[in-house]
Amino acid sequence: MDCFDIAVLGGGAAGLFAALSAAHGAAEAGRRLKIAVLEKNPRVGKKLLATGNGRCNLTNRHAAAARYHGDAAPAAPVLERFPPEKAVEAFRSLGLICRELEGGRVYPYSLQASSVLNILRRNLESCGIETFCGFPVEKIEKAGGLFVLRSGGKAVRARRAIAATGGKACPQSGSDGDGFALLRPLGHTCTPLRPALVQIRTEPRRVRPLKGVRMAAQARLLSGGKVLKTTRGEVQFAEGALSGICIFDLSRAVGEAGGGAEISLNLAPEYGEEELARFLRTGAKALGDAPAARIAEGLLPKALGAEAVRAATGSPAAPAAALGESDIRRIARRIRDFRFPALGTLPWRNAQVTAGGIPLRETKEGLQSALCPGLFLCGEILNVDGDCGGYNLHWAWASGYAAGRAAARSLCAE
Ligand SMILES: Cc1cc2nc3c(=O)[nH]c(=O)nc-3n(C[C@H](O)[C@H](O)[C@H](O)COP(=O)(O)OP(=O)(O)OC[C@H]3O[C@@H](n4cnc5c(N)ncnc54)[C@H](O)[C@@H]3O)c2cc1C
Repeated sequence: MDCFDIAVLGGGAAGLFAALSAAHGAAEAGRRLKIAVLEKNPRVGKKLLATGNGRCNLTNRHAAAARYHGDAAPAAPVLERFPPEKAVEAFRSLGLICRELEGGRVYPYSLQASSVLNILRRNLESCGIETFCGFPVEKIEKAGGLFVLRSGGKAVRARRAIAATGGKACPQSGSDGDGFALLRPLGHTCTPLRPALVQIRTEPRRVRPLKGVRMAAQARLLSGGKVLKTTRGEVQFAEGALSGICIFDLSRAVGEAGGGAEISLNLAPEYGEEELARFLRTGAKALGDAPAARIAEGLLPKALGAEAVRAATGSPAAPAAALGESDIRRIARRIRDFRFPALGTLPWRNAQVTAGGIPLRETKEGLQSALCPGLFLCGEILNVDGDCGGYNLHWAWASGYAAGRAAARSLCAE
């Protein structure tokens, strides 16, 4: 049975970065540790390749606790020790150049996720880190001060273990939540889990005429007369669902809102009702006998303008010139407050991230388990999830760095 200093469970973003951080931390102390990454899939980093639409938005210049949810406050020290500049610098020293695009989003210079994975794999090799792929850890035992990680008839022993098995989002990439079950016998619990950064379901007939339309908007999630959350960004109309960055950023709150929630889209947030009404009046005059559905064609995508008129007046085919002042006002209000019922989210396979996980109060310094000495945790398995825009991978690197370094330190101190 192979015996390692450190075994990392899960070869995703957090696990790979934890393994490298442990190797580098040990090297700085003049030591070389025997490190293994145990991955369920035939290859490491499957999810990484899908990130950022294949471009991998790997961090964000604004990464800080305020952009995180769940146990964001206890995660703050981990994030402070690994700010975005440090992530960019760390990748540069691994051999990857980054570039910053809109909204502080940082990508590999190549704009290809495969560059990130290739660089991580190249460094695993140069550090002598062994990867065991097709090794789904099914059981963790502790015997004689060692962790025994069992998979089928095989087993790996290690002095320290780092759990980086991810959450439940996008189970087709390998992270189906089995890590939570693995850690339960060691005393760890898990907060309720929900899909986040995911499309929001709505009435199919409401979005059918808009399928494929995209538009920058302000989106608000409303429930019981209250605004639960406001976001800005692109909204996309899909089959039975609303999608796009501003919708993804509302999706976590939909799970908490319960029944009766609605999404209100402001399709022209830069303009007040008065200004819009003036614009619409001019349009109505110019259109004359042409259908009212076209009245917002200079402002909105055609289908969206037509639906706003349909929702406001019920008669988009009526002549534009026949619209009265109250119709014009209703259309202007509808453009600023276009409502869709929020019926829940699409399922785990559509989600980018998991809301919920192992509470940070079950860890101590360096993300070491407070319940099982020698076990460290990092990444999405923990109850920390971020907004859309590079924050979740940033958490994977920051927590992987904390756990990897602390695991190496604990061995070097022996
Ligand atoms: C489509 C998509 C796009 C995304 N885009 C972005 C983006 O651009 N920017 C961003 O910041 N975030 C993005 N995310 C979120 C981000 O990818 C995740 O938050 C991050 O990958 C989590 O890293 P992790 O290592 O904790 O978990 P994972 O990446 O899920 O890795 C966990 C690994 O553990 C393995 N594993 C699970 N159980 C076992 C077991 N029992 N034994 C052995 N191995 C096991 C899995 O196979 C997997 O390889 C995206 C997510 C998706 C799904």
